[in-house]
Amino acid sequence: MDAIGLEARYSAANYHPLPVVLTRGQGSWLWDVEGRRYLDMMSAYSAVSHGHAHPRIIAVLEQQARRLAVPSRAFYNDRLGVFLEKLCKVTGLDQALPMNTGAEAVETAIKAARRWGYRVKGIAPDRAEIIVADGNFHGRTTTIIGFSSEPDYRDGFGPFAPGFRSVPFGDLAAVERAIGANTAAILVEPIQGEAGIIVPPDGWLKGLRRLCDKHHVLLILDEVQSGLGRTGAWFAFQHENVLPDGLVLGKALGGGVLPVSAFVGTHELMAVFTPGSHGSTFGGNALAAAVGLEALSVIEEESLVEQSRVLGAHMLARLKAMRSPVLREVRGRGLWIGAEIDPAYASAREACEVLLEKGVLSKETHDTVVRLAPPLVIRQADLDWGLDRFEEMLTVLEGRRHAPAKESKPWHAETTLAS
Ligand code: PMP
Repeated sequence: MDAIGLEARYSAANYHPLPVVLTRGQGSWLWDVEGRRYLDMMSAYSAVSHGHAHPRIIAVLEQQARRLAVPSRAFYNDRLGVFLEKLCKVTGLDQALPMNTGAEAVETAIKAARRWGYRVKGIAPDRAEIIVADGNFHGRTTTIIGFSSEPDYRDGFGPFAPGFRSVPFGDLAAVERAIGANTAAILVEPIQGEAGIIVPPDGWLKGLRRLCDKHHVLLILDEVQSGLGRTGAWFAFQHENVLPDGLVLGKALGGGVLPVSAFVGTHELMAVFTPGSHGSTFGGNALAAAVGLEALSVIEEESLVEQSRVLGAHMLARLKAMRSPVLREVRGRGLWIGAEIDPAYASAREACEVLLEKGVLSKETHDTVVRLAPPLVIRQADLDWGLDRFEEMLTVLEGRRHAPAKESKPWHAETTLAS
């Protein structure tokens, strides 16, 4: 059986991959088992911001794996402290709790917020509430999907945990109305990734910071996808000059080779954790810490934040200049852009299939959005090559128009960005 057949036979069908079997990656390029080369314009949902097989990260991975990998946190190890010191310095926050996946770090944030709510704010036992945003994506645990607004993520997995209240993304007035005496925290993505790279109105984060200060509520940002240079700043919150009380990081923190995540916060917030109150067998292991430290150093020393800002502006300008009826909207920040495809011509999935034929890998999110999120190390010539293929894809789809033109808005237009 070939690779696709084996997966179909032995893997639960919880993904619907594009029909390409990858075997090798280097920088911004991937190769399939037949030797064809593809430009990676998706970076494993932003986990591969450093590109595939970054030489510095691979060197640290190899050396540290030979020296010490998983001693457990029953003991100290000589890599964790230096990693977390660096993480606190780049975020501007005080302390961190290392985990593995993004969802685990979000769960850590939820636990921190609730305990802070009871022990610091004085909320009555088991009454703490967290305000989230419609269209959110924070991971796949049962608690997290319980406050998702996406029926497919929830269907058949209830009952769900109480204590969450969802308001329209970008709507400050709705947030203020939702705040009550039991509100412990607001938890949002600064730009919603899986929802389709939805950029909120300017001033949203500043407004949230102001509301949180006014009502003694924590501001917790999930920057698992937007963080670590993706938007052209180290963190998306820096675009509005605010500092959250808690910050959730993952994906690129593992340098594209390991799952490394963390919840980072202020002293006051992180002080709620006491021995035994939280943990993870693999969280903070020496191998993950060494790789995480190198991932941060590479971003800094190779100016990847600057690269994301400059090439991201170039990518957005080029996409905006593409005059095609197939392309209804482009939006984003840094090297992170959502391209809205008119469903009268094709689905975003079909657009990705045409891109695949042309040697560009991306992945749709929802039915209409193609995400473009190349590794931050991408060379401008390669990016331009990928954008040329994107433009060709639009021409191919233009010939496929299958329904009379309808007056239709991007899927999120009625439900979000209300303020
Ligand atoms: N938060 C955000 C904003 C995400 O985009 C994701 C993953 N797409 C997660 C959390 C969950 O991360 P993981 O898949 O590593 O659990």
